[in-house]
Amino acid sequence: MNPNSIPIKNLNPENIEILDKALEQIREVILSGQFILGSEVESFENEVANYLGVKYAVGVNSGTDALLIGIRALGIAEGDEIITTSYCPFPTVEAIHLAGATPVFVDIDPYTYNLDVSKIESKITSRTKGIIPVHLFGLPCEMDEIIKVSNKFGICVIEDTCQAFGGEYKGRKLGSLGNAGAISFFPTKNLGAFGDAGLLVTNDHKVYEKARMLRSHGSKRKYHNEITGYNSRMDAIQATILRVKLRYVDDWIESQIKKAHRYNQLLQGSSGIIIPAENNYTKHTFHQYTIRIQHNKRDILREILTTAEIYTEIYYPVIIPNLPVYSSQNNYDIYYPSATLLSQEALSIPIWPRISDDEQLRVIDVIKNAQI
Ligand SMILES: *Cc1c(COP(=O)(O)O)cnc(C)c1O
Repeated sequence: MNPNSIPIKNLNPENIEILDKALEQIREVILSGQFILGSEVESFENEVANYLGVKYAVGVNSGTDALLIGIRALGIAEGDEIITTSYCPFPTVEAIHLAGATPVFVDIDPYTYNLDVSKIESKITSRTKGIIPVHLFGLPCEMDEIIKVSNKFGICVIEDTCQAFGGEYKGRKLGSLGNAGAISFFPTKNLGAFGDAGLLVTNDHKVYEKARMLRSHGSKRKYHNEITGYNSRMDAIQATILRVKLRYVDDWIESQIKKAHRYNQLLQGSSGIIIPAENNYTKHTFHQYTIRIQHNKRDILREILTTAEIYTEIYYPVIIPNLPVYSSQNNYDIYYPSATLLSQEALSIPIWPRISDDEQLRVIDVIKNAQI
């Protein structure tokens, strides 16, 4: 690989910072002979619950499983509807289908990229049982409004916190505000494992108990299965790595926020480019730094960046209602104009906590010199 190329994320600087400690811990786990759940996972669950300010945490296999188990633990099932965003990765919606429920999509705000809270109420029916706000790219959703609607209609809220670990809404950690929160430790997320892992958090003891059953084949006691669940238990090796990284994650997040603010400064005054929204009552963790390139210039700019070996991503090129999983014929653009606009304009540029000043300058130089 060209040493001057810039990936969209580079995990090595962080992983090298913790490598010796992680290897020592992995060695301990191997010699303990306890590879699935056990004391390492319990310690991580306690520490991360404490970090997030929640009563209970359940370590599972992935963020997708955390969503699925959360939905089922809240009693949502076949025939129920869940309101969510039209602009997010598929796993959020897949989890709703896997639980037997039906997703109902709302359009987004074109500046925050998060679901437009003013559009939720008109989608509520007698079957609506929940709302899944996705804190997209690390920016918290408008939780006060979402919780107000959920209280009015007696439905629950599951925060998809997969891209926003460590973020805050009015001083409270994301994932702790709804009835449950789902977190992913996919390696590139704010807190990343060395493989797949996820977490469900809640303050509700019943939800906690049911989630623990669901992750272990629906049993509280071995060989006394009560419901049909999953094999979705967290590995002890992942838990021990996450315990090490949890002590560093605030430093990494603060660093990533600084890098995002530097991009904001460098992009100031660039016409045809909209920088990410932010506000003073939330902490945006900038899991992605996603700009809007207006006037149909996004794809041209992306090609110029790729030619310069600066790698970007389009999160997401297809809005959820138009995915082939529903039908290859669908074209719901007119119902989701802002999500559609983002699918045409969004460009995520390289960001990670230790991206260098020089790397950031090179990214911005190419963007500014592209003359689009
Ligand atoms: C990553 C992600 C998921 C899925 O998490 P996995 O750990 O990959 O299963 C779900 N929702 C969102 C918003 C994500 O970014």
